[in-house]
Amino acid sequence: MSANLEATTATTPTDDLSAHSFRMLINGSLVDAAETFDVINPATEEILAASPVASVEQLNEAVRAAKQAFPAWTGLPVAERGALLEALAEAIEERADEFARLVTLEQGKPLAASRGDVDAAIAFTRAFAALRPGPEVVRDDDQARIEIHHKPLGVVLAILPWNFPFFQGMYKLAPALLTGNTLVIKPSPTTPLNAMLLGELLVDLFPAGVVNIIGDGGSAGPVLTGHPDVAKISFTGSTAVGKAVLASAASTLKRVTLELGGNDPAIVLDDAEVRKTAAELFKWAFANSGQVCINIKRIYAHSSIYDELCDEIARLAKAAKIGPGLEPDTDFGPLQNAKQFQAAKGYLQLAKEQGTIIAGGNVLDRPGYFVEPTVVRDIGEDSPLVTQETFAPIRSIMSYDDLEDAIARANNSAYGLGASVWGADIERAAAVADRLECGTSWVNQHFALQPDVPFGGRKQSGLGVEFGTEGVNEFTDVHVLNIAKN
Ligand code: NAD
Repeated sequence: MSANLEATTATTPTDDLSAHSFRMLINGSLVDAAETFDVINPATEEILAASPVASVEQLNEAVRAAKQAFPAWTGLPVAERGALLEALAEAIEERADEFARLVTLEQGKPLAASRGDVDAAIAFTRAFAALRPGPEVVRDDDQARIEIHHKPLGVVLAILPWNFPFFQGMYKLAPALLTGNTLVIKPSPTTPLNAMLLGELLVDLFPAGVVNIIGDGGSAGPVLTGHPDVAKISFTGSTAVGKAVLASAASTLKRVTLELGGNDPAIVLDDAEVRKTAAELFKWAFANSGQVCINIKRIYAHSSIYDELCDEIARLAKAAKIGPGLEPDTDFGPLQNAKQFQAAKGYLQLAKEQGTIIAGGNVLDRPGYFVEPTVVRDIGEDSPLVTQETFAPIRSIMSYDDLEDAIARANNSAYGLGASVWGADIERAAAVADRLECGTSWVNQHFALQPDVPFGGRKQSGLGVEFGTEGVNEFTDVHVLNIAKN
């Protein structure tokens, strides 16, 4: 059952969803729960819909179903699993506008951005669906034939945050299933509806138990991460929770991939073209209203271009339109939830006290979690605005004279997710980028993710990678087949 969100004639987003019953997918059935959790529209602070909250029995049933489905699923030829994933991509494509609208309603981002997330989810699903990983022969001589196989792990638990909820769910689902695992997906309590809608497609396409989607009111995480029948946890979220997930994985030595927080620096070299660079920096610093692990969060600009760059980024921030994601001219939607909104207010206060605000600085005087894109200059390196991950549209621009000093400051962080270097001399920029302590250093770009390129964090930004051969292999264990020939 599903309502067509696009076809509705209702005038408010809340009305759009009133007829839709969001249900969990457990063991091949769409099921309700005794308890529900109110999902809030961050653009209005009104209740959008009720999401089911799985009981402990339902959580256990989801894991049991995934475990039961594993032997048959993993026994299918990889081409058949790939074909089912391709069919899923097609089914999502047919309802892409509906998914995008739902993401905007519950997450807050502009509709075009939500559609971009859905399109990225489809593209990544297709890329993983097309893979046919096979054994690698490391030796084949008179003595022996040695092959490295990659064996699926069993039940994978995917834990999702709320910033790109649909895309994140799909880029975990596709490689996990292709490699022969079964899944339990736990969406964030504040953005579960797109996952429930996905369940409506999966129920018709996949064998019972292969994918289970549960609802969470905030306490399901530890029940699932501690479950002895979960073989692997693929987690995206904060560093603090990532550490708790890692600890709970220890008892049964679960495999763990952690994609955690970031405090990405951007170094702007003295030969950068200021106007063009400012536009890119602005885009990637404030994308998703500043709620991306790989937003540019600290900008280090050479003193010779510092004032001009600050002015240009401030100009762009002042010109941006903040509003509900469903309004066509909106550049930036609200923050996703009340907790983030409170945190942002704290950072705005810090910006006032410790730096010079050259754009923004306020929340909007209307319902909804709206924060102006805020640009801060002349701020000390030790301010929490610089040292902490501000998951909000508040960004700091610092000046440097000595490039070595800029590199040292960029690297002086417990995080190491992404970084970028901007300049006209690409070789020089690339040499600087090579020295940055992070999972990905971009040159004259930021944020670019591809399904065939590994993405992950160094230091406290994560453990392991997603995407690429390395990321796909993280859903498997190595199995060596060593055959003597004499
Ligand atoms: P969060 O860590 O609070 O929550 C992430 C998920 O973990 C949610 O589904 C939550 O319900 C669940 N969770 C909470 N406590 C748990 C526990 N004890 N055991 C198991 N699961 C638990 O993060 P968030 O607030 O949803 O997202 C924001 C954070 O995520 C930011 O720090 C951001 O940088 C990070 N993030 C990282 C990436 C990346 O790829 N590196 C991507 C997006 C977000």
